[in-house]
Amino acid sequence: MFNTPHLLDQLVSLTGIRDLELLEASLLKTLNGFIHPTGLSLYKVSSRGEVRSEVMFRPEKCQVLRDGFDVPAELLQAFQQHHATDTSTVRLAVQDGFLNVMTVMDMRSATTYLVISSKDALHDNDSRMIDGMLQIYRNFCQLLQESQTDSLTGLANRKTFDDCFSRVYELQPMDDECPVDIDQRKPQSQSTYWIAMIDIDHFKSVNDRFGHLYGDEVLILLAHLLKNALRNDDLVFRFGGEEFVLMIRCQHREEAAGLLERLRESVATQDIPQVGQVTISIGATEMVRNTFAGTLLDYADKALYYSKQNGRNRLTFFEDMVSDGLATREVAPSENLDFF
Ligand code: GH3
Ligand code: MG
Ligand code: MG
Repeated sequence: MFNTPHLLDQLVSLTGIRDLELLEASLLKTLNGFIHPTGLSLYKVSSRGEVRSEVMFRPEKCQVLRDGFDVPAELLQAFQQHHATDTSTVRLAVQDGFLNVMTVMDMRSATTYLVISSKDALHDNDSRMIDGMLQIYRNFCQLLQESQTDSLTGLANRKTFDDCFSRVYELQPMDDECPVDIDQRKPQSQSTYWIAMIDIDHFKSVNDRFGHLYGDEVLILLAHLLKNALRNDDLVFRFGGEEFVLMIRCQHREEAAGLLERLRESVATQDIPQVGQVTISIGATEMVRNTFAGTLLDYADKALYYSKQNGRNRLTFFEDMVSDGLATREVAPSENLDFF
């Protein structure tokens, strides 16, 4: 029988986490502490049956595998079996024990499965405890996801931006350093991230002329256009009001400019029912590591302001403002500066 105060301690630490990836690792760690299985993994399987990732429990650090990793044939079968019969637990007898496959989350685009390998069949008490734990986990994930999402557009919100920014930022090259690829499994490439700040032009007048509900529709439509224009490694946030921020991964400045220009153009040429045409202004800058995050946002904002002051419906790079003598970079602090 499991130890109740210890279980509560584990739940307290699980629900204290504000990061979905850490939460998955913590769920595995908590389960491992109670049932001592021979193996413990979370698999994400797309609605088309492709296994996208595996988070494998390791006592030191969970390992995340993506693309091209081996999935035992019995497991693939269990995922399919689960899909076909929609039972919540599938137990498979394998050579050295059992594989217990349970559904953790069933979303439209993907399903997350928990796979517990054990020498013996799971005890009823353990099964009940795992079910309860998964239910708490599901409820908590939902709350967390809601708190990170903008309810009108479904995009990530401003709060999430800061976390994502620091993660991407850590992977950016220093000015004098060889670029590091965000995906360490691929050969190193020259790609870096670019930040683009987007603001709808004269949006107040859309609200004034057609009403707030139509204004909301424009925001939803723009969010949809942004999501569709971006690729796998790109990120989009609703920063507030009618302002959006993109983090796009590009090999070079021309690629970033091409993507952003196409985006600007596709918004400008969209005929929105009742409202007609709406345009956006964009300010962009490259994310380089030896610049503070706030400073980079400030650069993008300055470039956006320049776009607004110079006709709107246009894209400006902060780098161009610097070379044209219209702006200056802040002096970079020493890398070794100690704040505390
Ligand atoms: P500019 O081209 O200089 O950006 O002009 P603007 O009118 O877009 O800028 P301003 O900052 O004056 O107005 C922004 C407007 O966005 C005011 C506010 O009512 C509206 N807004 C902010 N959030 C929302 C929202 O969630 N829904 C709707 N419908 N309007 C919003
Ligand atoms: Mg604005
Ligand atoms: Mg505006």
